[in-house]
Amino acid sequence: MTNQTLPRDRSVDWGSSIPFLLMHVSLVSLFWVGFSWAALALAVLFYVVRMFAITGFYHRYFSHKTFKTSRWFQFVMGVAGSSAVQKGPIWWAAHHRHHHAHSDDEHDVHSPRRLGFWMSHVGWIMTTESLDPPSRYVKDLRSCPELAFLDRFYLVVPILFGAFVLGLGFVIERFFPSWGASAGQVFVWGFLVSTIALYHGTYTINSLSHKFGRQRFRTGDDSRNNFWLALL
Ligand SMILES: [Zn+2]
Ligand SMILES: [Zn+2]
Repeated sequence: MTNQTLPRDRSVDWGSSIPFLLMHVSLVSLFWVGFSWAALALAVLFYVVRMFAITGFYHRYFSHKTFKTSRWFQFVMGVAGSSAVQKGPIWWAAHHRHHHAHSDDEHDVHSPRRLGFWMSHVGWIMTTESLDPPSRYVKDLRSCPELAFLDRFYLVVPILFGAFVLGLGFVIERFFPSWGASAGQVFVWGFLVSTIALYHGTYTINSLSHKFGRQRFRTGDDSRNNFWLALL
């Protein structure tokens, strides 16, 4: 692989960062919707399921192809991963493969060695250079139009998932009033809190896996796969 110089623009791209920032700002709604154990349980459930989609599907399948599957189940995995609101499978895999190829050198957009803890934890996602990871890493995935669709319209699945959680909230409010959860509360906990926890869980893996754990996929790479981190 040639080590050509890539454009490295570390400035923050505010336009494309708006959904990410809005998600965080929207947490103030917690003051209005309050708490119930049912809402918290749903937040945990949707966190665990979607974290599995990220580590099992986006990471192990789309990024490293550690197992084979059918074309339709590949799409199902792409949809499941998309619900975590971390863009489409091709963007994620391109970014991740690029990371493995360049771990901790100057091209790695989230290397703590290069950027310090805060930028490597979450800041990098807002930089202009993270928008377009090099597509030469994902020629295999780009040949599937259904995956390209998920990537191009990467907000479709998150919006559908958010609507599903809200719908579930209305069902719970109407038919299980003893649970003490309103529709808005289910939405805020099940979608917003859970998704933001996922962001930070995923980035914590990113940040910490550069430091701890066993080397697995590539030598000469600080980033190791750590079993405990994979559970986050
Ligand atoms: Zn990896
Ligand atoms: Zn990295």
